[in-house]
Parts: sequence; structure tokens; C-alpha cells
Amino acid sequence: MSDKRDNALREQILKLKKERNAVILSHNYQRGEVQDTADFVGDSLELSQKAAKTDAEVIVFCGVHFMAETAAILNPGKTVLLPDAGAGCPMANMITAEQLRQQKQKMPKATVVTYINSSAAVKAESDYCCTSANGVKIVGSIDNPEIIFVPDQYLGDFIAKRTGKTLTLWPGYCPTHMRILPEDIIKRKQEHPKAKVVVHPECRPDVIALADEALSTSGMIRYAARPDVQELVVGTEVEILHRLNKENPGKQFYAASKKAICPNMKKITLDKIAESLETMAPAITVPEEIRLRAKAAVDRMLAGV
Ligand code: SF4
Repeated sequence: MSDKRDNALREQILKLKKERNAVILSHNYQRGEVQDTADFVGDSLELSQKAAKTDAEVIVFCGVHFMAETAAILNPGKTVLLPDAGAGCPMANMITAEQLRQQKQKMPKATVVTYINSSAAVKAESDYCCTSANGVKIVGSIDNPEIIFVPDQYLGDFIAKRTGKTLTLWPGYCPTHMRILPEDIIKRKQEHPKAKVVVHPECRPDVIALADEALSTSGMIRYAARPDVQELVVGTEVEILHRLNKENPGKQFYAASKKAICPNMKKITLDKIAESLETMAPAITVPEEIRLRAKAAVDRMLAGV
């Protein structure tokens, strides 16, 4: 897309945003031009907190379906737009509310901790939500030897190792982070021997074992800003490099694997944001009975961070 067309679209979006009293939230994995058009760019925890505090009447969520649902859970009186209703998360779709209910029946005394990458219906069956930024803290604070963790087995494994707790894991995973392989990290280290290596806890354990740190995307942004970090290999969705380069001129960032692209995150475009604000669709809603139960799990997370 040409810069001229981007600029025209951006102007149209700004105008519509004002007319609708809207705020635009963008995940760190969104296209660069979408990040540049947003009011806030962040990870799912930061965006949940922004969504909970905003005075805007309309929230345009540039991310995937579960993120827009979380914004709808926290903002019942507001309109939440997801510019492409087909932007889903394969990991979130790896568990249904019915499957979680069956797991709970097998372990009736267990506390259920659910990664925010899940549907509202699954959150509604949970005691706590967590993100990759606060999962260790949330699980560490639970005084129950039986904990069910869904849906990401790798984040769950990472949290279990960090907290020393035994978690019953669900076999979900992120197909994008699965594309980062141990040999990619080994190769990047050979190419950039002075670089530090950070990876996301959604990566496979054998990838995490090769990194200096496993961090959420907000943790990576803070790590990259450290004065002692000049070169960084980054093991997460590649578009985070847009923000890292923008905020850290002069530093060098390398994608651990250029194959780590989330096709769902790329479904949101400037055209679709403009159209969504124009038509006020697709709006994401959550049935009130599910919303209230899901909100209790999200509120327990927000109270603990
Ligand atoms: S990067 Fe992975 S977890 Fe995140 S939205 Fe894409 S598929 Fe889901």
C-alpha cells in the first residue's frame, strides 16, 4: 500500500474516530501501519487495562477475537469493534467450555487458571485469568495443590517450572510460536554472538531453555530498552520488531524465526479499521450471563497485578 493511500486512510480514521468518540487499541503483533494509527499499542494485559479505563464510547480492537471479547467483558456499555470478525486465535479455539467443564468434573477441588487467550465462555468456567506477563504471579499466589491450567501447555509448563507447582495442563499451543525451533535460536546466536536472546513463554520448552529470558511482549519491550542491551534476538511474532526498532533507534533486533507470523493478527488493515468505524461493525458482544462470570475471572487477575 502506498504511503499516500496510508495517509489518506489514516486521516479518514482520525476523523471517524473523533465523530464516534472511539479509541483504537493495537496488539504488539499488528501490522506496523496499524500500530502507528492506534492510540495505544501493547500486550493483552496492557490492552485489557486500557479497555477497562477508557472513557471512549467505542473501542476498536486491532487484535484477535478473544481480545475484543475481553474488552466487551470489561466494558458492557460500550461498542467493541473487531475490524475483521474472522481474526480468531487457533490456540483459544483448542478448548471449549464443555471440555473445561468435563475436566473440572474430574478434578472438582481444583482451581482453574485460564490464559487470557481463550473464549469468554471458557473464561466464564474459570477461577482466574492470567496473561504471559502475570501468570507466574497469579499461579504463585494460589493456595491449592490442584490447579488446572488451560489452554497453553507451554505457558503452563513455564509457569509450573517458575513456581515449583504441579499444574494439570491442557494440550493447547500457539501455532505461530511453535514455528520457532531450537535450531533457529542456535543459528541466530552463531550469527549474532553478542546479542541477548529473549523468547515468549508460548515457545516450546527446548526453545525457552536456549534463551536468556522468557518474557511477555511487554517484558520484551522493557528488556530492549535497557542500556546494556544493544543487540537482541527476539523469539515471538515478527511484527514486534516494528515497535522495538521505532522505540530503540541505533539498536539491532533480529527475529528468531521469520516464519513466526500470526496470519490472524494480519487480518486487520487500515481499510478495515476505516470501514468498521464507518459501519460500526463487526461489533463483538458477550451474553450477559457469560460476561458476568468471565468478568469475575478477569477481575481476579486485574486485582492481583
Ligand atoms: S500469536 Fe498465537 S496465541 Fe497469539 S493470536 Fe496468533 S495464534 Fe493466537
